Amino acid sequence: MVGGGQLARMTQPAAIALGVRFTVLAGSADEAAAQVVPSSTVADEKSQDDLRAFAAGCDVLTFDHEQVPFEHLRTLAAEGVVVRPGPDALLHAQDKGVMRSRLTRAGIPVPRHAVVSAPDDVRAFAAELVRSREAAPPADGSDLAVPVVLKTTRGGYDGKGVWVVTSLAHAGEPFREGAPVLAEELVAFRRELSAVVARSPSGQAVAYPVVESVQRDGVCVEVVAPAPGLPDDLAVEAQRIALTIAAELDVVGVLAVELFETVDGRILVNELAMRPHNTGHWTIDGAVTSQFENHLRAVLDLPLGSPAASAPYAVMVNVLGGDAPDVYSAYRHCMARDPALKIHWYGKELRPGRKVGHVTVCGDDVDDLRDRARHAAAHLRGDIDE
Ligand code: ADP
Repeated sequence: MVGGGQLARMTQPAAIALGVRFTVLAGSADEAAAQVVPSSTVADEKSQDDLRAFAAGCDVLTFDHEQVPFEHLRTLAAEGVVVRPGPDALLHAQDKGVMRSRLTRAGIPVPRHAVVSAPDDVRAFAAELVRSREAAPPADGSDLAVPVVLKTTRGGYDGKGVWVVTSLAHAGEPFREGAPVLAEELVAFRRELSAVVARSPSGQAVAYPVVESVQRDGVCVEVVAPAPGLPDDLAVEAQRIALTIAAELDVVGVLAVELFETVDGRILVNELAMRPHNTGHWTIDGAVTSQFENHLRAVLDLPLGSPAASAPYAVMVNVLGGDAPDVYSAYRHCMARDPALKIHWYGKELRPGRKVGHVTVCGDDVDDLRDRARHAAAHLRGDIDE
């Protein structure tokens, strides 16, 4: 697995259980996965030579994030390295502009969007949104007809590279790099959902229950599985969309499809990730087969494991770095207070806002589970001390 973050770290126990020899390419020896995978290689994932040397020791190359250069992966694939997911699929998780147009062509519902290259194009796009909605232009004299979401097409994550702009005066920053920018409508959503599926090269696919994900400042903070109160037809529609995308783009491994449930009851695709995903962490403790195990099974073309939930509900809350002076005492407190709680710690240095771990709790009373998981995460972060 290229990348030494927490996703690679959490893949290791699944590899151990399956008897798969798993190794990682990490940027440094203290990255989350490099700490627990003794055979880790410390190398530069942006270097073609380093990637080639790493791949030479592997039967299959896969990833814990999307930032590995597409051109390098194409070259490796042409040289015979088995890259899963393949570069042509992965491009859709690397470039939001490519992804939006490809999904539109495949008839998948996405927010209205345009790839633009200058702030003036944003004005035209906002005006076009108003025309297509047959809405009245703003009475407040704003130079943008409606708010627009601007995104860097490449390199964004955890909300970095996403701006909501209400005036042209604030539309300059996304264009600073000189790269194309994705402009899209500000979707009025009821909540965000995620549909995680796994697909193998032979085309077998499984779909996990659709979850609700809560984002704060662009970062996923909480996941409830399954999404409470989601009507069956929307849940099936979300799974169908994710399975269709996996097949259309020939994705191999885990595919997470981040979705909006709009206020008028539609499902729109926001984002794709072709790797285990934060919205699937609950599966370690709450599903028959974790997303990490199914990612490995898929990239190795083994039959996939059951994605069924093993409890009526699972709630996962991320632990973000805070300024907890005594995390160890919080850690002991949470274990003692709630023995059914599962704590996952990534071995990362605590930095404010950084994902350093998560907690999961499973059961049948979703409100109780939410309270317990939130309490533990707040404690571990240092926000509360009782
Ligand atoms: P990233 O790749 O950084 O995770 P996303 O495209 O997923 O960026 O956007 C981050 C968050 O911003 C989303 O989870 C959502 O809360 C909000 N967001 C993104 N696009 C839109 C949109 N078109 N309308 C409303 N909110 C959006």
